[in-house]
Amino acid sequence: MKIKEIIFSPLFMTFKEPYHWYGRIDYGATVILITVVTDQGLVGHGESTSSFPAEGSLGLLGNVVQPLIGQSVFDIDRHVFRSRHLGLINDTIRMPNLLLTGLEMALWDIVGQAAGQPLYRLWGGAARDFVDYFGFVQGDTAEELSDSAKKLAEGGFRVIYFKVGRGEKSDPLNVRAVREAIGPDLKLRLDANESWDVFTAKNMIKRLAEHDIEFVEQPVSCRSLSALREVKESSPIPIAVDQGGYSLEEIFEICAQKAADVLVLSPHETGGALNFKKAAAIGEAAKIPVCLHGQFTTGLTDLFHHHLGLTLPNLTDGNQIMNQLYAEDLLEVPGLELSEGRLGLPGGAGIGARLDGDVIARSQENYVKWTGGRKKNVDFIYKYK
Ligand SMILES: [Mg+2]
Repeated sequence: MKIKEIIFSPLFMTFKEPYHWYGRIDYGATVILITVVTDQGLVGHGESTSSFPAEGSLGLLGNVVQPLIGQSVFDIDRHVFRSRHLGLINDTIRMPNLLLTGLEMALWDIVGQAAGQPLYRLWGGAARDFVDYFGFVQGDTAEELSDSAKKLAEGGFRVIYFKVGRGEKSDPLNVRAVREAIGPDLKLRLDANESWDVFTAKNMIKRLAEHDIEFVEQPVSCRSLSALREVKESSPIPIAVDQGGYSLEEIFEICAQKAADVLVLSPHETGGALNFKKAAAIGEAAKIPVCLHGQFTTGLTDLFHHHLGLTLPNLTDGNQIMNQLYAEDLLEVPGLELSEGRLGLPGGAGIGARLDGDVIARSQENYVKWTGGRKKNVDFIYKYK
């Protein structure tokens, strides 16, 4: 079965409410929906995270997909490897990984459909019956954050997560308010998104430790493994790496140097499902658990990540899921409603997703609107044959 056509559609997905984190307020996210059509009529969907506007991402993807037309859909690893080594993109691995994973997703979707099996069964089968997800606290002020956290706790989430790095005064106030809102029994996890230097991280972690924090994610820059290790060595709270771990080499060094207690790994950041499994295996060998990291992507990606999470023996509880943040989701079927923070085994073949055409059309229009109404200049369906 051969690849006949690859279609890129940049979409702008609007958040339900402004997304506050270190240094930024986001109102939505750009994704690139990738559709692969085969010569036998099977259609697979994938999704890439994107720059905004998406022209740079689309240019890079367009450069690598042309040689794939006419190739077998089953040679996934070779296609991704060759795509990563085209031009200069192997020297800047992060963005290409985020983009190429959408292509890999679509190919896996087709392979799963051809096999008549959900993807988790093609990746070794389910190591667990469900994946546990965290409640993602939204808001800006301590009052908004504690209200949001209380609702999540009442909704049955066992792990509560929110962003710190919002200021020396705000962080202790916010963490205290959220801990008081959720009570003493639930796990509370913080993500600093690289916002601190080593000095600030040491001081802030010391101040926040009284609130029984499960772990702090990426307290310092992803560019310095020694800084992360220095923070971990002095921290009374376990430390997780997130943005510091994309490539297999980075994951290996983190484990070998004992620079983190938890690996927060995204299949998009590692460059696809196959590299994600390899990265998780490095963590497994080092006795370090893996937590699924979400992207600014929709339920389509959440479902793909979910298949992978089901296969991991060293997966944590409180993984990240993102579709609930959007005003509307691309997924029409299945619904991803969690039961007490958990999602079980998906049915169907491949990713098992049916997308909502109306939402796709509205998201395309949103993309045009958010790129300044440049409809005449924006060919928002990119097609390669
Ligand atoms: Mg993070």
